Amino acid sequence: MRKKIIAANWKMNMTAAESVSFMEDLELELKNFDGVEIVIIPPFTALPRVSELVSETPGVTLGAQNMWHEASGAFTGEVSAAMLREFFTRYVVLGHSERRTIFNETDELVNKKVKAAHAANLRPILCVGETLAERDAGTHHAVLSKQLKGSLAGLDKEQMLDTVIAYEPVWAIGTGRTATPAQAQEAHEFIRKTLAEIFDAGTAAKVRIQYGGSVKPDNAKELLHQKDIDGALVGGASLDPRSFAKIVKAGARG
Ligand code: PEP
Repeated sequence: MRKKIIAANWKMNMTAAESVSFMEDLELELKNFDGVEIVIIPPFTALPRVSELVSETPGVTLGAQNMWHEASGAFTGEVSAAMLREFFTRYVVLGHSERRTIFNETDELVNKKVKAAHAANLRPILCVGETLAERDAGTHHAVLSKQLKGSLAGLDKEQMLDTVIAYEPVWAIGTGRTATPAQAQEAHEFIRKTLAEIFDAGTAAKVRIQYGGSVKPDNAKELLHQKDIDGALVGGASLDPRSFAKIVKAGARG
């Protein structure tokens, strides 16, 4: 019922020229990905080139890594939702832990961005996740609940259905340390339960929840076959077209 969504978050990697050769290689690798939606999330500077290539590849859509919530004005260094839509960007990652920690983004700011994305017909991929200290202290449910309630405040059910949640335990991002499939499933189930509290059970059952945190070709299949895991947000392993294609195939039907 929930189509798997597997996204490549390139972070601050790949020039426009490098992204073109990545897309050519990926197309060669991707033969069998029935039932999976692929999202390529390049840095802003590669969006125009990747947009052209994505438009020629069925089943692949474009995402951006961030945006500012105001429509225009004196916000040096920022881009608006309309600027992203100009290149047919479909998704935007919001509240990534790197934005929350390095750039001090709060749930309140993330919430403004989530609303501005919806107003521009961009689908947010909202990232939530606990730190290692929070997990060790047994507070990961409280952290996830606070992030979800804060970042999704004021959304209606339709907007929630057009939002993807990415559960990304901070201790697993770029560390090579993955949550076990059981740990990930437990957190995803909790997130779905929280969405049912905020919206309703029917809405929560339809929302796609990705796992992110050191997803690799050799651990993807087991993670992607957990009941509440509907895809992956992939950082490091998405920079190699062969690895990324293997992860996509691990989520494919059959
Ligand atoms: C990410 O940045 O969203 C991520 C999950 O990175 P990695 O796959 O490298 O852990």
